[in-house]
Amino acid sequence: MSEILIVGGGFAGVWSAAAAARLRAGSDLRITLVAPGDDLVLRPRLHRLDADWSRVPLKRFLDPIGVTHLRAEVTGIDTDGRLVDLGHRSITYDRLVLAAGSRLVRAAIPGEEFLYDIDTAEGVSRLASRLRDAENFSAIVVGSGFAGLEIATELADRGKVTLIERAQVVAPDLGPGPRPVIQAALADLAIDVHLGTTVRSADADGVVLADGRQIRADVVIWTAGMQASPLTAQIHAERDRLGRLKVDRHLRVLDDVFAAGDVAAALADPDHQVLQSCQFATPMGKAAGHNAAADLLGLPLVDFAPDPYVTCLDLGVAGAVFTTGWDREVQLTGRQGKELKGTILDVIHPPLDDAEEILRQAGRQSNEVSG
Ligand SMILES: Cc1cc2nc3c(=O)[nH]c(=O)nc-3n(C[C@H](O)[C@H](O)[C@H](O)COP(=O)(O)OP(=O)(O)OC[C@H]3O[C@@H](n4cnc5c(N)ncnc54)[C@H](O)[C@@H]3O)c2cc1C
Repeated sequence: MSEILIVGGGFAGVWSAAAAARLRAGSDLRITLVAPGDDLVLRPRLHRLDADWSRVPLKRFLDPIGVTHLRAEVTGIDTDGRLVDLGHRSITYDRLVLAAGSRLVRAAIPGEEFLYDIDTAEGVSRLASRLRDAENFSAIVVGSGFAGLEIATELADRGKVTLIERAQVVAPDLGPGPRPVIQAALADLAIDVHLGTTVRSADADGVVLADGRQIRADVVIWTAGMQASPLTAQIHAERDRLGRLKVDRHLRVLDDVFAAGDVAAALADPDHQVLQSCQFATPMGKAAGHNAAADLLGLPLVDFAPDPYVTCLDLGVAGAVFTTGWDREVQLTGRQGKELKGTILDVIHPPLDDAEEILRQAGRQSNEVSG
């Protein structure tokens, strides 16, 4: 009996499990997925502040395809001994797929305990219950990356929003392509933008900025600073500045270890590395799971080959902006962009209770659901 162990129950983990399950017919391959929670959390839905809508029961995806879910947190990985430590016991593997994702690492500032986030379903529940029934609240959002812009614009028609960005421009990581659309949306929504500064401290009444200015708010939402899971440090291999493991075109890190999703720095094409996003995490999961199983079964491995890069940024009641390519050329804005965003938020939900459909989708690296 051979054992594939998948660490993580996000997009990369569940699709690894399905892709491995697809290959194992007639073999004695056992597949186990370790994750502490009962749900796959659809993080791209979290900015809508509905934690339940973002949760997908792992059981209804894994049970039909015969994958065991071990509800536990991995505390250590011993790649020499092929052992994974669960705190109270260790389990062995023949092939490991690390898919433990990313998490927000907040700056250690005085008053950190007053900060809210939209990084997890728990974080969103805490924020939503603080804002429930509040009509004219004020919110400070720290960071104007993807998550910061989505939550700032989401909240702007319900309260007063201030956006704080350390860089001299808004959305520094999204480049100049969509910036005019984003700036127009922030202006339309009357979001107060402070550039070139950061937060020195927070308390129950708001924040003090690096330059000493005080801004009052009911909630302060921190969105800046994503890092790969600290488990990546337990694998003796090169990591990038986000803590992601360097992988080859088969998403292999070591002979018997693969990595997928936000923990893996793979090439999306000859000139670009993947970003920490579900549009890459899903096909990476499929390729890594396939390759872990194929490696054990003596079958050909597949190259990781994602769809062309796109982005679709929600801008609340100002619509959404859809871009294509690494230069992020704007294709759709406003209501048309918003309709596409809605479709994307629908299709990232995986099929449930239907082994045939789950395995069919696992066999396609493309994020297109049909075909
Ligand atoms: C607010 C927000 C909005 C986003 N919007 C978009 C978007 O619009 N489009 C897009 O493409 N991407 C978006 N992303 C990014 C996207 O959600 C991530 O890239 C994606 O979730 C990565 O999937 P993953 O499976 O690698 O990791 P994750 O989704 O982080 O899942 C990691 C899994 O590993 C488990 N895990 C972690 N540590 C351990 C451990 N020690 N032991 C066992 N299990 C562990 C976790 O419980 C979880 O199940 C957004 C992210 C956020 C936070």
